[in-house]
This record gives sequence, structure tokens and C-alpha cells, in this order.
Amino acid sequence: MLAIGLLGLEGGVEGQAADQHPTVSLLAEVIRLDTSNPPGREGLVAELLAPRFRALGFEVDIIPTPEPGKAHFIARLRGDGSKRPVLLAAHADVVGVEREKWTLDPFSGVVRDGFVFGRGALDFKGGLAVFAQAVLRLAERRVPLSRDVIFLAEADEEGGRYNTTWLAGSHWAKIDAEFALNEGGWIIKGADGRVKYVSISTADKSSVPAIVTARGTSTHSSMPRPDSAIFALSRAMARLSTYETEVQLSPLTRGFFETLHRTSDPPLATHFRNITGNNRERVREADRAISVDPLLHALLRNTFAPVLLNAGFRGNVIPGSAQATINLRLLPGVDPHDVVRELQGVIADPQVEVRLVNPQAGPSKALPSSQFTDLYRALEREAKVEFPGAEVTPYLFQAGTDAGAWRSRGVPVYGIYPYPIDAEDLTRMHGNDERVSIESLRQGTEMIYRTLVAVAAR
Ligand SMILES: [Zn+2]
Repeated sequence: MLAIGLLGLEGGVEGQAADQHPTVSLLAEVIRLDTSNPPGREGLVAELLAPRFRALGFEVDIIPTPEPGKAHFIARLRGDGSKRPVLLAAHADVVGVEREKWTLDPFSGVVRDGFVFGRGALDFKGGLAVFAQAVLRLAERRVPLSRDVIFLAEADEEGGRYNTTWLAGSHWAKIDAEFALNEGGWIIKGADGRVKYVSISTADKSSVPAIVTARGTSTHSSMPRPDSAIFALSRAMARLSTYETEVQLSPLTRGFFETLHRTSDPPLATHFRNITGNNRERVREADRAISVDPLLHALLRNTFAPVLLNAGFRGNVIPGSAQATINLRLLPGVDPHDVVRELQGVIADPQVEVRLVNPQAGPSKALPSSQFTDLYRALEREAKVEFPGAEVTPYLFQAGTDAGAWRSRGVPVYGIYPYPIDAEDLTRMHGNDERVSIESLRQGTEMIYRTLVAVAAR
């Protein structure tokens, strides 16, 4: 089946003008549906996709949420049931835009100079189009399947309460699978345009909110006392601002930095080697050089960032308390209570208390996904076929994704933005003039299609 599929595939692509590639036209259509969240309105995507999937024999479920216009879309292509399903999950919502900073309409799906432009081109409507097209192709080619293939277009990944955690709580049977793909790792191109490495995320950092509270005497501002809550909070925040958590490498991040060592040029290549070593002085030096990049800085450690301040209520009253919210981003397995104790020790002021917003919060239940599954191995193999010479490595995703709903139930999830990108493309994600190249979409569709054939064809 695989060989026949591949031959047919090449013929089909060569016969088409690049901008008529079905993934490109689907992406342009989906970008034109403004699903900026809030409010999301992901139901628009469900309405667009439903007739196309039904026409090819998929069982389609549109799961409405209590919020009008917000829905999840699920399409299932039946296999013979001898293996458990494989699921492809893509969020259909996007973050909003600063329209005046774009040079083109972010919701027009412009195809120009070899790129598709628009909000979501990378995150994650591009991936939605690649996943959808790969799954639709299985049906078009009538590939006999040993397992169901489930495609999910989700609501509320970028914010809101009716996300995949909500969906899993109410409709788990519809999205239960042996393993799944979603967003996460990267296919990184070098300056010469060749893909250097492919990272497949097998774990996400977790996001935990904490509150720093300083207390003092609430009194008339004409008679200030030495125990001002606002001054105490300011001192505490100043201490945190110059504090850095230790480098903590897990086997997962160690392997990733070893890959960076092999695919980078000096002097960074040397730092990437030293960061995985045992020489503490060299690790510190490497950390300083590597952590100039905020993404790599975040992969090396638990991070904390102040996000909200709250103090005072009128001009002639010294308030009795002042608060800052800090957002902790924790490595897999880290207990948030330990980090709270660490920060409390850094602040070292009995007037100031650090606590978790949710005191019951513990280490994330979403364990890293195994690299020893048929899906990981197939994706790794097909990435190497599609991008000869590229390294493939598992990866810790620096942010949170929709994967928690599955990983916390023991279902492995592998994250990838399924198209080669370069540094320039990456800065536009969640930014302005977001774009993805047509050739990258084509390559991504081939890679994902062949991966599905490998794990699901009979
Ligand atoms: Zn995303």
C-alpha cells in the first residue's frame, strides 16, 4: 500500500500549480474564517469542514459548547478495529491581531511570493490544514485501515474554558486513542534553506499561577510607617528580578541540546555541548550564552514571570497589603510547592508571603510521552525521508498545549508544527504578517500522510 500511495502522491503534486495544492487552498479558506479568541467562533471551521469529510465517508460530530458559535469538530474514518485509533488534533482558534501593524489583511488568506499569509498560518491553521489534508487523502485513496483515524479541530486552545480538557471530560469516548499528534516541535531550516533538525515534542511545561502578598499597617498617608506593604512588595520583586533558577536537564532536554550541538556552528556548538556536561563553571558560562535566546532559556529551567500587580485603593490611604501575580512555568515532574519555597527563600522577608493560587496544585499529571511507540517511530522515519540529512529529536515544549487532556490519561501525544520554518518565520508567530511557505505545507502534508499510512494502513 505504501509504495503505491507514494507513486500516486508524486504524480498528483507535480501535476498541480503550487498555489493549487489542496493544503494551500484549504489553509487560505480557514484563515478567512476569523476565529480570533476571544470569542473564538470555531463553529465556522466546523461548518466548512463537515460536508467535505462527510462526502468522503467520515463520521462527523460537531460538539457544541455552552458558548454560542463555539464548537469542536470531530471526524472519524473507520478502520477494521484491530488496533486502537490514532488521533490528529489541531486548534481552530487563533490569537487576535494588532491590525495596524500588518502590511496585509490578516484574515484574507493572501498567497504571495511562495507563502500563505494570515493569522494562524503557523499557529495552528497551517497544521490544521496539513492534518486535515493528510487524513482526507487516506479516504480519497481508499487506504484500507487497521485502526480508526480521528481528526479533531478544537475550540479554546488559545484561551477560554471549553478547551480539550472540557471536551475530554464530556466526550472522552469520541477522542480516545492509542496515540495522537498535535502542535509542538519544530522543523527548523538553516540559512541555506535546508532542514537542520526536526524536534517532536513529547512533553509540555506546565503553567501554575502564584501570588506574592506583602502586608503592612493600613493607615493615613500623612503618617507613613516603616512597614509599607507597597515598599515591601517592591523589594521582594526587585530580589526576584535578579534571581535565576538553576539549570535542570532531563534526559529529554539533554538529547535536544546534544542535537543542537551537532547541528550548530561554533561558538554556540561548544556551549550546547558544555551545557550537558558536568563542569559547573562551564555549565554556567554556557547557560549565560545560550540563555540570550528566551526560548532556550526557558527549556533549561523552571521560570517565573510577574504578570499582574494590585495595590492601593485611594490617594490618602497607605494600603494594608499589596499583591503581585507571578506565572510559574515548570519542567515536567516539578512540584510547584518546592518552587514557592525557593522563591520565598529568595525574598526572605517575613512581611511577604508567596502562595499558590490553587494550594492543591501538585506536579503535572501529564507525563512525558514514550518515544517507543509506532507513531513516534513512524513520524521520526518519515521526517528523515522527507528531510534527508536532518536530525530528529524529541523535545520539551516551552509552553502549554492542548496535549494535557490526553497525556494526563496516559495517551502519548507527539507535537509538531508540520512545516519547515526559519527564524524569520518564527518571529511572526503570534506577531505580524504571519506566514508559512507553500513548499513547506506540501512537504508537511507528504510527511504526515506517509506517517498515517505507516501506523494505520492494513
Ligand atoms: Zn497553537
